[in-house]
Amino acid sequence: MADQGTETERREITSQILSSRREALFEIDGALKKINQGKYGLCERCDKPIGKRRLKFLPQARYCMKCSGV
Ligand SMILES: [Zn+2]
Repeated sequence: MADQGTETERREITSQILSSRREALFEIDGALKKINQGKYGLCERCDKPIGKRRLKFLPQARYCMKCSGV
């Protein structure tokens, strides 16, 4: 009985993780393609290095800080 609430909560959290993971997978797939092309870590817009700190934080980043508008 006491577990019912937790179970629902867990299901909700799991579906949230799954939906955000699907998007992340798409991004990671793009990042892997860029690694193959030797372009990983470069901004897709200005071709400048995205920056190690940003990549550490967001490994699938496609744009540099400036271009992503953050
Ligand atoms: Zn850029």
